[in-house]
Amino acid sequence: MPELPDLLYIQARLKEALVGRRVVGERLREPVVMRFAVRGNLSLLLGRRLDDVIRHAHFLVFRFEDLDLAVNPMLAGRFRLAQPDEKEERDLVFLLEFDSGVQLRYRDEKNMGKAYLLAKGDWRAAAGMQAGGIDVLSPEFTRERFVSLLKRRRDQVRLFLMDKRALDSIGNAYADEILFEAGLHPKTFCRTLSHDDAVALHDAIVKVMQEAVDEVARRAEPIDVKVRDFLKVRLRDVCPRCGSKVRKAGVRGMDAYFCPHCQPATRSGLVDWTKTGR
Ligand SMILES: [Zn+2]
Repeated sequence: MPELPDLLYIQARLKEALVGRRVVGERLREPVVMRFAVRGNLSLLLGRRLDDVIRHAHFLVFRFEDLDLAVNPMLAGRFRLAQPDEKEERDLVFLLEFDSGVQLRYRDEKNMGKAYLLAKGDWRAAAGMQAGGIDVLSPEFTRERFVSLLKRRRDQVRLFLMDKRALDSIGNAYADEILFEAGLHPKTFCRTLSHDDAVALHDAIVKVMQEAVDEVARRAEPIDVKVRDFLKVRLRDVCPRCGSKVRKAGVRGMDAYFCPHCQPATRSGLVDWTKTGR
């Protein structure tokens, strides 16, 4: 699933390649993924110029004059820039061909993502676009704002980090990385965090996300490649800081990766891996 650093990179590359270009061809192969909030179909985009590509929550929004094409890739959706003579992918959902000869292809092997064609700015029909969390890379994401958000929470800190109504936005991979950076066990309850813990967690969010944005950009891979090999605990075996075995814990049905030594348990009832001798 693309997370914020991936989406920002994809957005920048697509802007660079496509803004100012007009649509000269379209193909919709998986209608089940498309929702039309305007009368018509994808051919409405023919002749229209792409004015901008913006990110909003988990969506990339392609702004075509008076129409917005909003895509939420969910688990497996991927964008790709292609030449017209390249073979169409088996999991192609739609493609748009631009007057530069480049095609924007959107594929999804699970067909779980959603794409919406909407009147410009009228995003009510797109589920999840109104999530409303604060952009963790914006200047508005201050320590004060974060501490006041956190104070009202009664849930586990990992669930809070991933709540799109609070924060825009953190997924499974970066939630683990942030908690590792902050030295917090993923099952820690928000209410047990001190003010200093909260400030440290805020700073860890900014540091981890900004470093990831920079790293993904630096690698300059094609936009359908997910760059994750620089992560420290997510899907790792050994902690890069202390050499302990990285453990997995279930948090509401999601796997959390953490180092039991660097992120010790803070409440009873959790398995204390530092004492099992393994
Ligand atoms: Zn460690």
